[in-house]
Amino acid sequence: MRSLVFHGPRSIGVEETPDPAPATGEVLLSIRATGICGSDLHGYTGENGRRHAGQVMGHETVGHVRGGDPDTLTAAGLSLGEAVTVNPVIGCLSCESCLDGAEQACPDRRVIGVDPTISSAFADFMVVPARNAVALPSGMPEEHGALVEPLAVGYHAARRGRCSPGEVVLVLGGGPIGQACVLAARRCGAERILVSEPDEHRAALVSALGADTIDPRAENVAESSKRLLGRPATLVLDAVGSSTTLGDALAASARAARVVLVGMNEPDVALSAYAISTAERELIGAFCYSRDDFASTASWAGTAGEYLDRLVDGRVGWDGAAGAFADLASGTSSASKVLVLPDDRGEQ
Ligand SMILES: [Zn+2]
Ligand SMILES: [Zn+2]
Repeated sequence: MRSLVFHGPRSIGVEETPDPAPATGEVLLSIRATGICGSDLHGYTGENGRRHAGQVMGHETVGHVRGGDPDTLTAAGLSLGEAVTVNPVIGCLSCESCLDGAEQACPDRRVIGVDPTISSAFADFMVVPARNAVALPSGMPEEHGALVEPLAVGYHAARRGRCSPGEVVLVLGGGPIGQACVLAARRCGAERILVSEPDEHRAALVSALGADTIDPRAENVAESSKRLLGRPATLVLDAVGSSTTLGDALAASARAARVVLVGMNEPDVALSAYAISTAERELIGAFCYSRDDFASTASWAGTAGEYLDRLVDGRVGWDGAAGAFADLASGTSSASKVLVLPDDRGEQ
């Protein structure tokens, strides 16, 4: 089969690699589409040291079930030919976090597309634990399955923030996670949603999702937010995660607001302790998604087609994959989400 192999900073290419074979408890998938994530790009440039030379990346994917022993398929409720997305987080299943359904916090978790020793999605085929293959609603446009993973990050953040009907929500950052936060806030019944995003292309995409936008370079986020939302935000989803955005979150939010930190732009931040204590705001962390939040996002995605269509703004085949990484990493392309589509080799 062909795989997109990462060789080191800014070097990636399509190569022949051995076909994977499913062990007991695993299923074989033929890959239909895999999204290029910001974390893949940071791996590609070398900024993210969690990607290693020689590995295959790819964790936002949709494929067809092509193999697996019958008992495994039956136990997982999967059938051959079925379209599935993949929860890339593989927990140990025995620690306290895993037993809580929070495999994203498992100290021994392995992540598809990150761990170089496990099968990953920028390939014609991959094998995954059967329980990580999540069936998609029938009739859903296939490539929307590749969006479930980032959408689940936004949904988990909104759930961590206890987003509920009538909420007035400020989202900081309009990239793929910010977009996922917008859709999640709407899914949870938010009354108004405003996004702070400096990039024009991303702001236009977020507007198409039905949110108002402001440019944090051109206006005071707290003032514009209060004006456009009609009042201070009751929930802020920070999809950037910097001292600047957390400062905006505190300045723009109401007393007792919840501020969810889901972006991971800066490992250390400075913020006003008094803005948290005196106004009794809550600062809440969100990371990846729980098993349930991933599964429920896969089901919900079948109802959100009109919005999900807007999230994909580029598609390349194997011959365009390396170029797409180069263009996205250099900023030549301002695309928000590009999908790599292997051609139909291996499909019957
Ligand atoms: Zn991702
Ligand atoms: Zn565990």
